[in-house]
Amino acid sequence: MNELEFVVVHGSRALAPRISQQSEPFWTRLAGGVFGVAHCELCGRLTFPPKANCPDCGAVGMGWHPVSGDATVYSATVVHAAPALFSALGPYALVVLDLAEGVRLVTRWVGAAPPRCEQRARLVVLQHDDGVLFGAMEQG
Ligand SMILES: [Zn+2]
Repeated sequence: MNELEFVVVHGSRALAPRISQQSEPFWTRLAGGVFGVAHCELCGRLTFPPKANCPDCGAVGMGWHPVSGDATVYSATVVHAAPALFSALGPYALVVLDLAEGVRLVTRWVGAAPPRCEQRARLVVLQHDDGVLFGAMEQG
């Protein structure tokens, strides 16, 4: 099982995640440094965010699969006019990542330099004062 690097971010999260019965295992694993995606036991599909049913075959009851954190930037943007809730973060970058395991997701970029399409990246755990979030940065 791969453990992701923790990046300390001072202050509270601008918006804490809404924890549901479905997402609770994800957040518990993330607090331990493991990024898990949902895994269909029937057809093998990996998907994120966590879901109760497989989006491909409809099977009920998804398992969990830890990912390596290795990724490639598929797309990126810099947000200059942030919503009021995130205005203290701006400008900030968002990326669409393709994980090595074949899952695509959107997350915040916390790398030192602006993200570039097709660059190698990695998931990290953002350790805020009040809990964790996840983000991405350039490959080590
Ligand atoms: Zn399935």
